Amino acid sequence: MGLIELASSNSFWRGVDYYKSNKVISWKKNDEDTYSGTVKGSNGKQYDVYVDVEHPRKSKCSCPFAEDKRVICKHMLALYFTAKPEALEDYLTEMEEYERQLEEEEERRSIEHEQELMKKAKSMSKSDLIEELVLAWLRIEEIESSRYYYE
Ligand SMILES: [Zn+2]
Repeated sequence: MGLIELASSNSFWRGVDYYKSNKVISWKKNDEDTYSGTVKGSNGKQYDVYVDVEHPRKSKCSCPFAEDKRVICKHMLALYFTAKPEALEDYLTEMEEYERQLEEEEERRSIEHEQELMKKAKSMSKSDLIEELVLAWLRIEEIESSRYYYE
C-alpha cells in the first residue's frame, strides 16, 4: 500500500488542504523514492518531515501525531503532494473513475429492478393488482406519517 492508502481519510484530506495552502516551507529529493522537508503545522510550529514513497511506513514526522509511530500524517502527505503533484492527481482521478463506475452500476441495477417489477405487474390479475396497489398506498402513507413525526 502507498502513503495515501495507509493514511486515514481525515489525514488524507488535511494533507491535501496543507498542500494546496502551501504549508510546505522547503523540501528536497534525497533519492528516487525519498524526500525531506519542513512543513508548517498549526499554531506556528514547524515539523521535520521525511517521506519514503517505496516504504511508506519508514516515513517520519516530528509532529505529535506521527512522532515515534508508524502512521502517515497530513504533513507527510503535504510534502508528498508538493514533491509529486501527479500522485495526488492520479489518485483523485482514480477515485472519480471508481465513483462513476459505482453510479453506473447503481443506475443499471435500478433499471433492471424496474423492469422486473414491470414484468411482475404485467403477469398479475387485475384484482391482485388492486390489492397490491392499496397495500402500497398504505405503506407510503405510513412512511410519510412517520417522517412527519420525526421532523
Ligand atoms: Zn506530521
